[in-house]
Formats: sequence, structure tokens, C-alpha cells
Amino acid sequence: MRVLETMHSFDHEQVVFCQDKTAGLKAIIAIHDTTLGPALGGLRMWPYASEEEALIDVLRLSRGMTYKNAVAGLNLGGGKAVIIGDPRKDKSEALFRAFGRCVESLGGRYITAEDVGTTVQDMDMIHEETNYVTGISPAFGSSGNPSPVTAYGVYQGMRAAAQKAFGSPSLKDKRVAMQGCGSVAYHLARHLHEEGAELYVTDLYEDNVERFVREFGAKPVARDAIYDVDADIFSPNALGGILNDDTLSRLKVKVIAGPANNQLQEDRHGDILYEKGILYVPDFVINAGGVINVADELEGYNRERALKKVERIYDNVLIIMEIAEREHISHAAAANRLAEERIRTIGRVRKTFLPQEKNMLNLGKRG
Ligand code: NAD
Repeated sequence: MRVLETMHSFDHEQVVFCQDKTAGLKAIIAIHDTTLGPALGGLRMWPYASEEEALIDVLRLSRGMTYKNAVAGLNLGGGKAVIIGDPRKDKSEALFRAFGRCVESLGGRYITAEDVGTTVQDMDMIHEETNYVTGISPAFGSSGNPSPVTAYGVYQGMRAAAQKAFGSPSLKDKRVAMQGCGSVAYHLARHLHEEGAELYVTDLYEDNVERFVREFGAKPVARDAIYDVDADIFSPNALGGILNDDTLSRLKVKVIAGPANNQLQEDRHGDILYEKGILYVPDFVINAGGVINVADELEGYNRERALKKVERIYDNVLIIMEIAEREHISHAAAANRLAEERIRTIGRVRKTFLPQEKNMLNLGKRG
């Protein structure tokens, strides 16, 4: 495949291919945009069917991180890495240390983290070779499990959407249909229950649902019936692609707000939601709590400060709703516009020459 041409079409700065025969490492690191700062994004380990598939995935995911980090107000650019391999069979200390050395060789242009197929233990092994890694064990000063913080951000985003849709951020007596009763959903449900919301839930596993029924008084719903619940808010907490031609004609809600990644099957589904007058909170905006949390590790982790930063999601959601209304564009398009605008303006601000940059001029080398 034409690598440079593909990089060009996604507009990437740099793509690094890493190989180590002894360790069995085959990895790609993609740095999409570092206008705002070093590129931060997770390391995915997946048995990709081809190198091309791995490259397209890492290019797509790293570009997504540029937008997510920009809207989240972080001074970080977008990057991502993939290791081609089966996370159940191919992990070893050598593999992750070889990857760690590759990250180190970039001198801080890319900072890695956990993602699908990688764990805290893997990050600890990477940490043996580089400091440019987040999501390591709490003993090394990391932020721990991101799910409660992600859930707190989703809760804030949902309150902002409620303010816009119902005239008040209160979720008391609001009926929320939750798809998925996993890790983020659990902490989100706790916030919603404490505020007096009425929960309708579904999951692949009966025991997950039972826990929500027991602890939050949630009402169980059949898996496919979750789209038909007569609710105020639909909250996707499981899968991507669930906002599609089939489900959009069934949803009766005023607001869609949940952490699941890539909820819109296609961009046009964002336009349909806008035309229907449904407030869709773009996934990468509302689920940024996790990345805001790990990014805080770079300053020496402070939970209180991280949660304060996560609360900005409330304002971001209101800004996105305003842009959408003003420009007559979908909420998803409005979120992209907000990210691009921040990158453009902060990029310009950072063009000012600073005295400490004079080393770059090699003034000392003149006779
Ligand atoms: P999780 O695996 O703990 O929970 C997902 C739940 O969805 C599971 O209980 C699973 O059984 C259920 N599920 C799967 N398919 C389903 C279906 N068809 N119908 C109903 N339920 C189904 O994952 P999580 O960490 O809670 O993450 C949830 C979503 O949020 C994912 O899309 C994830 O990528 C995204 N996200 C998570 C974080 C985080 O901090 N964990 C951060 C950003 C985004």
C-alpha cells in the first residue's frame, strides 16, 4: 500500500514502524498532530489480519485522539499505537520493553497508555524503558482505573444536555435507558440513581443487569428493546455503530449521551439526529474523562485536580450545542469544528518566539 499517500489523506505528521525479531514486536506508532503538545493516545494490541488493516486503524484512531484531546482542553496532540499480535497469546516482557524503547526513541513526541488488549501490567513493563507512558500501577504514581472518572465526565455531559433539552441540569425523575451495564455504566448509574433518575437497563449478561436492579432499582429491559423505551435520555454504554437507520427511527428520547466509542454508524446519522431535534452529545467529547485523568499523571497525579478538569465537559457540551444551533450543523460536526478552532488559535499563539528557543538557532556555534 502507499503509506505516504495514506498518511497524507489523514494528514499525519509522522508514522513509525517498529520491529524486533527477538521480542516478536511488530508495532506502528502514529503521531497525527502535535500543534497543542506531545501526542497522547493508547496502545492497542490486536491480531490484525494484515499490516494494511493495522495501519488504517492506527491512523484513524490517532486522528480521533487529536480531536478528543483538543476539545478536552488538554495541551496534548493526538497519537496512537498498535501492536500486531494476539493479546491472549503473544504478550511477553521483551515485547513490551522493545515497544518501550521505540517510544523512548521518539523523545516524548508520543506518550502511550492502555487501550483495547493492553493492561496496567503491560504499561509497567513499558515503563522499564521509558517515562513516556501513563496508566502504570498506582505504586508508580498513576491514576488507576479510569472508569469512575470517565463516568463522572459522562454524568456532567448529560447534565449539560439536560439543561439544554429540559431547561434544567437536574436529572431527577428523568428516565434514562442504558445500553450496557459494564464498568463505566456502573459508576454513571450510581450518579444518576443518587440524583433520582429512573433507570432502564440491558446487558449481554444477566448478572450485570441484576446488580443494577439490586443497587439502583433499575428496570431490566430485553436487549433489543432498549431502543424502544419511552425514555428522556438514551445512554450508549456498550457498543459502537448503534446510532443507525434502524435505531434512529425507534428512539423516542430527547437526548443521547453515553461513553461508548464511535456511536454514529455513519456521519449522516449525526445529521439525521440534528434534523430530528435530538441532542446528541458526541462520544469523544463526553467520554474524555479517561484521557483527562491519565493526562493529569504528567503533572504528578492529583485526583481532585483531574475531576475539576473533567467538569469542563459540562461547558464543552453547551458550547457544542451553541455552535450546532448557530451554524445549523450536526452536534458531531460542531464538536469537530470546536477542536479545529482550538488547534488553529492555540497553534498561532504558540508561534511566538521564546528566548529559551534560541538554542535552536545555534548562536553559540558562531566564531
Ligand atoms: P465494559 O466492557 O466494562 O462494559 C461494556 C458492557 O456492555 C459489558 O457489560 C457488556 O456485556 C455490555 N454489552 C456488550 N454488547 C452489548 C449489547 N449488544 N447490548 C447490551 N450490552 C452489551 O466497558 P467499559 O469500560 O464500561 O466501556 C464502555 C464503553 O465506553 C466502550 O465503548 C468503551 O470503549 C467506552 N469508553 C470507556 C472508557 C473507560 O474509561 N473505561 C473511556 C472512554 C470510552
